[in-house]
Amino acid sequence: MDTVSGTTDLVTMEIGEDYPELREAVRRVCARFPGEYWRELDEKSQYPTEFVRALTEAGFLGALIPEEYGGTGLPLRAAAVILEEVCASGGSASPAHAQMYIMGTLLRHGNEEQKNRYLPKIASGELRLQAFGVTEPTTGSDTTRLKTRAEKKGDSYVVTGQKVWTSRALHSDLMLLLARTTPVDQVKKRTEGLSVFLVDIKANLGKGLEIRPIKAMINHNSTEVFMDGMEVPAGNLIGEEGKGFRYILDGMNAERILIASESIGDGRWLLKKAVDYAKERRVFDRPIGQNQGVQFPLARAHAELEAADMLARRAAALFAAGRDCGPDANMAKMLAAEAAWHAGEAAMQTHGGFAFAKEYDIERKWRETRLFQIAPISTNMILAYIAQHVLGLPRSY
Ligand SMILES: Cc1cc2nc3c(=O)[nH]c(=O)nc-3n(C[C@H](O)[C@H](O)[C@H](O)COP(=O)(O)OP(=O)(O)OC[C@H]3O[C@@H](n4cnc5c(N)ncnc54)[C@H](O)[C@@H]3O)c2cc1C
Repeated sequence: MDTVSGTTDLVTMEIGEDYPELREAVRRVCARFPGEYWRELDEKSQYPTEFVRALTEAGFLGALIPEEYGGTGLPLRAAAVILEEVCASGGSASPAHAQMYIMGTLLRHGNEEQKNRYLPKIASGELRLQAFGVTEPTTGSDTTRLKTRAEKKGDSYVVTGQKVWTSRALHSDLMLLLARTTPVDQVKKRTEGLSVFLVDIKANLGKGLEIRPIKAMINHNSTEVFMDGMEVPAGNLIGEEGKGFRYILDGMNAERILIASESIGDGRWLLKKAVDYAKERRVFDRPIGQNQGVQFPLARAHAELEAADMLARRAAALFAAGRDCGPDANMAKMLAAEAAWHAGEAAMQTHGGFAFAKEYDIERKWRETRLFQIAPISTNMILAYIAQHVLGLPRSY
């Protein structure tokens, strides 16, 4: 039988919470940033600078950076636990999560000079690598058709194009950018001819780079990025020219596993709030939680969250073992996002009219967790992946 038995993760999985000390440490930091903090930022569409600084100072955002580059070199599961606890505390991990998975592209495919130049500063918080420019307005999920062009001219690449939904670009020093270096009609496969660059945002702003915030349903600090003749030194190309799509794909399983954990954290927070409220709120001379109509959606959300958590842990164990975790990572992300949404819906319904009162934070978390069914990859694209790569059905697009 094909299992990953023997890994610590699966052993701890049987007895409940893994990384208890790490969880406790994250909870202690998060306790300094209560609901009022997030509510105010949400209302003003502001970035949680102090919170991200606190996570960085505690060493959490350098969790996946090896010790030789100033990080703590923990396994992916530990990073997942950190993000889960942030979300389970009522906060949002989105302002900081990208640093964990974007950094993997630099770590796995960057050269020594690049790693020595950037990773220690990213680990210490001196440099923020929080922006990831992939999605474009006219091509969306069809990533390999992206139109941003990077042309080599002397010692630089000259970049022209547009990105959309590039989150945190105004709160990051660096952006990992995917651009086409060989025109699509000159490559055998559309996945070829794309390259990854590390762009110094601050150095380029106003010099061929313009960034505009997008007003959105959640406080995600997303932006539109306009590049018109922006110069990127050739030394900031990651890995080989033309192989960028593969490098980005490499990081996607990690991203799926981390997002699954954020969803699970969101779901657990929403569920706990709903259960507490269902026990306290009395209508018709009984706690509303005594009614099966109130209980059952909460019980179902709990079951779904536990199932998604097990799959996310298996995906992380496979990842740690260097085994193929694509199907598990994708399924975990999809099921966790749906479980969190169901917990959100149950929490909304349980709170009745008070769900709409901002001070309860239910509507904020409900909005926030809805994202994960769309970004960083939408549910349909995961289902298409499972149909094609796991079930062997014909490619549908
Ligand atoms: C708040 C927010 C933050 C984001 N942050 C970032 C970021 O930091 N960096 C970044 O690069 N991107 C980011 N994104 C973009 C995100 O990854 C995309 O929105 C997502 O991948 C979907 O792409 P799209 O919006 O272009 O939808 P489209 O590709 O236009 O798809 C629209 C709908 O059609 C469905 N669909 C499309 N094609 C098919 C098909 N063949 N079969 C079945 N269904 C299909 C999709 O599943 C989806 O439901 C962010 C988005 C949001 C909303």
